[in-house]
Formats: sequence, structure tokens, C-alpha cells
Amino acid sequence: MRLGFGAWLAACLVAACGTADPGATPQPGTSQPQAELSPQTGTASSSGVESTEPTPPGAGLVGDPADRELEILGMAHAESADDFLLALPGSSGLRADPAADLIPDGAQSVGTPQRGRIHNAIPLPPRPHLYTRRHPGRSFGSTHTIRTIQTALSTLRSDKGVRTEVMIGDISLPSGGPISPHVSHQSGRDIDIRLLLVEGLDRKTVPVDASSVDWDATWTMVHSFLETGAVKVLFLDFRRQALLHAAALRAGVHPNVARRWFQWPQAGGPGLIRHEAGHRAHVHIRLGCGHAEPSCRGS
Ligand SMILES: [Zn+2]
Repeated sequence: MRLGFGAWLAACLVAACGTADPGATPQPGTSQPQAELSPQTGTASSSGVESTEPTPPGAGLVGDPADRELEILGMAHAESADDFLLALPGSSGLRADPAADLIPDGAQSVGTPQRGRIHNAIPLPPRPHLYTRRHPGRSFGSTHTIRTIQTALSTLRSDKGVRTEVMIGDISLPSGGPISPHVSHQSGRDIDIRLLLVEGLDRKTVPVDASSVDWDATWTMVHSFLETGAVKVLFLDFRRQALLHAAALRAGVHPNVARRWFQWPQAGGPGLIRHEAGHRAHVHIRLGCGHAEPSCRGS
């Protein structure tokens, strides 16, 4: 025998044996999401003549949401993730399962963002229909923060129809406290979010180039946070504010309202959206203290 058992087994594994399993589970990301949704209207097509069984809400979201998130993170292009997101509840007018989005009470921001911690911190849960997490181990926050993220991004998906991937960067460590390389992000109420990418880019793109950013989608995302009433300040490079400001006006924001929200065009002026060095590819959203956070302090 010239072919030893070990070599045969290796050849078998590489060549054929792993591909002929008729019971193999299809890859979830390549199953038929389009069958459940009409790409033109984004509405359920279960009333189509070819379908006799209505598709139950939530049918697109099976298995562990953390696994779904990993599938999205493994995709090459943002628009691939966009297609994938179309099949999930919370997209295209389909409500996310409210029970799945229950966030427990009791996680409290303590002290200031620059010198603080989190009591009973909770992780930002995997919700691939709403967002992806860049570093789950650095995405812990207070109840107020985690709920605000769910509220803002549920609105973005369900009410405003934005399906571009929202990549959440750092929030805080599991107990808060110092987190390199940040000065703040210590008390579970600072959230870094990458600016939303234009279609066609590698989904890992860091949008240091302004032309990489979908400013209209990014404004809609920022506006969804502002509408929660929970934002204390939002940091974005001053020159980038010009592009976000223009998107806000395109979206119909009155110039007088935009003047209250943006520093732009007055460098160093008041405004909820303020310049901070190093915030060119992401926005940094700082929330105020929640009602049930007696030890939460200042800014
Ligand atoms: Zn930050």
C-alpha cells in the first residue's frame, strides 16, 4: 500500500468526504432571504400567489444572534450585510421581537466619564438587525445607555428604513474604569459609532476619507439618537460637521434648529455636536445620566 491511512484520511477530508453529505445544513447567510421579502418594496411577500403559508414575523432570525453577527462580520462588503439585514426582523418595517430586546434594570453609571465606573454593568447584546459590535468585550454600559442604543437604532431601522450597517465601537469595559486609549469611556455612557459607509466599500473600511461616508444615512442615525432626548454631547471633527450639517438641511431640519445642534459654522461655538480632535471616522455620543443613576456625575 503506497497510501497510508493517515494520508488517505487527509486526502478524503480535503477532496470529497466533506462535500457529499446530503444532510449538510445550508449556510444561513446563503439561504433564501429574498423569498421572504420583496426587494422592491421591502414588504413581506407572503401574499404572493406562489406562497400559501404566511411567513411569521421573526422567521428570518433563527439561532443565536451572536452567530448571525459573526456571519455579518465575516462578509466582505457593506452591501452584502445590507442584503442580509433585509431578511431580519427590525428591518423594512418588520418589528424586532420586543421580548428579545428587554434590557434588565440595575446597571448604573457611577462618577464621571473621565473618572468613573459602572455598577452591575451589562453588555451590549448582539442585535445584528440593529448593529454590529466591533469589540463585544469593550461594549458594556448602563441600563440607560444600552436601552437608548436599542431605541435609537430600532427607530433607524423600523421607522426610517436605513439598512446600512451600524458598527458600534468602544463603549466601556465590563466594570468601567480606564480604557486605553480613551480619556473618557469610563462610566458606560460614551458610545463610539463608525460613520456609515457608502455602498460598495469593503465593510472593514475606516472612513478617514469623507467620500467614504454616506452622510445622509449618518445624519439619520445621529438624528435618531438626538430624538431620544438622552444625548448630552456628540463629538465630531469640525470640518466633518459641515458635511453632516448639509445632510441635516437636506433632510429638512430648519436652519435655526441646526444652529442649536451644530457648532458648525462657528468654530468653538455652542452646540450639541462639537469638535473633538480624532473624531473623523466615527462619532462619539455621550449620554446624560439616567433617572435611576444617583451616583452618575457631570460630564
Ligand atoms: Zn469615543
